[in-house]
Amino acid sequence: MYLYAGVVVNNESFQVDKIFTYKIPENLLPKIKIGHRVKVPFGKGNRRIDGFVLEFYEECSNSVSLKYISDICDDFTVIRENDIKLIKEMRRRYLCTYLDCIKVFLPTGIIKGVKNKVKETILLGKNLEGKFLKDSYKAIYKIVEENNGVYSKTEISKKFQVSLSSINTLIKHNFLLTNKTIVNRYNSREYSDYNEKILNLEQQNAVNTIMGSDDKVFFIYGVTGSGKTEIYMNLVKNMIEENKECVMLVPEISLTPQMVERFKGRFGKDIAVFHSRLSDGERYDEWLRVKNKQVKVAIGARSAIFLPFDNLGMIIIDEEHEGSYKSDSNPKYNAKEIAELKSNIEGCKVILGSATPSIETYYRCLNKEIQLIKLTQRADGALMPDISIVDMREELMKNNKSIFSEELYNGINNSLVNKEQIILFLNRRGFSTFVSCRKCGYVFKCENCDISLTYHHNNYLSCHYCGKSYPVSKICPKCGSKYVKYFGVGTEKIEKEVKKKFPQARVLRMDFDTTRKKNSYEDIYNAFKNEEADILIGTQMVTKGLDFKNVTLVGIIAADISLNLPDFRSGERTFQLITQVAGRAGRGKKEGKVVLQTYTPDSHSIKCASKNDFDSFYEEDIRIRYSMNYPPFTKILLINFSSKNEDLLIKNIQNIGIILKNILKNNDKIEILGPCPCVLSKIKEHYRWQILIKGSFDTELALNIKDVVYKNLKDVYRDVKVSIDINPGNLL
Ligand code: ADP
Ligand code: ZN
Ligand code: ZN
Repeated sequence: MYLYAGVVVNNESFQVDKIFTYKIPENLLPKIKIGHRVKVPFGKGNRRIDGFVLEFYEECSNSVSLKYISDICDDFTVIRENDIKLIKEMRRRYLCTYLDCIKVFLPTGIIKGVKNKVKETILLGKNLEGKFLKDSYKAIYKIVEENNGVYSKTEISKKFQVSLSSINTLIKHNFLLTNKTIVNRYNSREYSDYNEKILNLEQQNAVNTIMGSDDKVFFIYGVTGSGKTEIYMNLVKNMIEENKECVMLVPEISLTPQMVERFKGRFGKDIAVFHSRLSDGERYDEWLRVKNKQVKVAIGARSAIFLPFDNLGMIIIDEEHEGSYKSDSNPKYNAKEIAELKSNIEGCKVILGSATPSIETYYRCLNKEIQLIKLTQRADGALMPDISIVDMREELMKNNKSIFSEELYNGINNSLVNKEQIILFLNRRGFSTFVSCRKCGYVFKCENCDISLTYHHNNYLSCHYCGKSYPVSKICPKCGSKYVKYFGVGTEKIEKEVKKKFPQARVLRMDFDTTRKKNSYEDIYNAFKNEEADILIGTQMVTKGLDFKNVTLVGIIAADISLNLPDFRSGERTFQLITQVAGRAGRGKKEGKVVLQTYTPDSHSIKCASKNDFDSFYEEDIRIRYSMNYPPFTKILLINFSSKNEDLLIKNIQNIGIILKNILKNNDKIEILGPCPCVLSKIKEHYRWQILIKGSFDTELALNIKDVVYKNLKDVYRDVKVSIDINPGNLL
């Protein structure tokens, strides 16, 4: 008999990140289960707070001083037993607390006390006939007779102008009854049918391979438009037939209304949709629908991976190369890693898909850790678009200083005349202040790290990997020209230019600013789909999953912007962005064309992307990563400090830097870089510094570093915030 429970309490403080032992009172013994949320007395004042039961024990050595669990909160368990294994692993791997991990498994609403939305309606009860009652009672009875189960008490009272207390009297004597019904807050809109397609040979082969193999992890590498979605839907159908459940992750659900349209159109409205823009109530309802086995399929952003399915057969991760699968707040998990951990625990299959694999995933495919499935043709027979590289240095020589090259300008004109649509893409990041020569394309880089230097306002350049700083030079060290400048152009500016040069065109802009309101993304998307505009200007958002038949021209305004981000993944990101955005062109019967503008036409990732040559790109990139000691050959641990008090911040991070260097000094497999200011050296009044540790280290060492950092920050933890991230998605 288990008399003791191991409980994690709902208290954010790092000091209480442990499993506390509580006694289980006799009345709860028959009911309590692992995974229950409970109320427990905590701290000196024995304040009652929430806790989560993670373990049971038969015995306990010093049980006398233990406190009792006060109560069980819900009539169901909020965490599954298998997920507790996952929680423990996540806490180690992502260097965070139990509570951080527990919280991702629960809809936020549950802790805040959100409940089912319940409506109490009034039904007819005992027969009134032959009873001597006042006419007013009879009138109410008649109203209910005509509206059985439709209205609540207050609604009846208001709508029909009758007394609430009379209704209560009738209820008391059972002439009327109350009935509780649960109102669902999820989207129950009907979608038009999305008919099944007959799979082509490549698609059928992918489905057969996955269904017929004992392997657990697969990667579907299919060119843009090869019909991966159709494969996913076929796999989901297979799973449903086997009575298993599926989760499909997409980069951010609100960004692909098309995907929801297709899935709901195929499988009916009974699939859960789970993403960050749902209200607490909506999340709670969707979570509960999964918990109560009312849905078999969920589609959502990365956090949908934690939904409480009990019989999971498959996790599909579309566009696996996307950075948004990595969380940048605690727990700083990577959904792809979670999928594989889940697969180990529960035996489900994991399907990754992309037209532009991440280097890490492809490396694992070649090492046979992941089964690779290739699709080489577009499903509807459309041709891959032709990509033409325009050297912007030559435009400058022709005295064309506008943001449009001649070729792009003519292309836009052409498409407008032919009544075809155009997408203009700008990978804008306001802080990507790299410095380059507009005459020869030279980019200022750190000699130690092969990373673009970042421009700082007090007129120096710095490498934010190793902290080395360089003077700003007004003259290009390569060609001697005076056209050295830092880059800065935004989507708004492009919109202005387009309107000036093509006043006849109808223009839409899709970026962070224009999509902040709840349905604005969908509105812009629909307007462009319905051909209410000719030109769509946008940031990364326009690179994802859009399937418009009338788009024949894609213009990439400045491919260099992502190429020169100070990040070892910048080459990979550039290759991906170019391929993805190019994939939006020529999806219908008409041929597509892409004009790619750049100052560095010889850059490896730009050249390979323009030829659709991932293999060559991969070979070169993996070689650089090997020689520079970057992942997948090593891990990166990023320790980030932030504070309003700059002196205090610097003093503490330098102190910790010295301690860590001491600990690691005899370990030649590990490099420690910094401390130095982050690329974004100040956000919202908070100064930011970082230490970067790079090398082959195991979880034990990472945990050790975490302990050292937190111990040394004990006295200033209110003023200096720390964040530790293992293999961060970006290093800004
Ligand atoms: P991907 O996700 O690989 O970029 P999509 O799934 O968006 O590709 O498919 C591209 C287009 O091809 C879509 O319009 C889709 O309806 C169509 N399609 C997919 N499979 C088939 C098929 N077997 N037969 C005909 N058309 C198909
Ligand atoms: Zn130059
Ligand atoms: Zn450097």
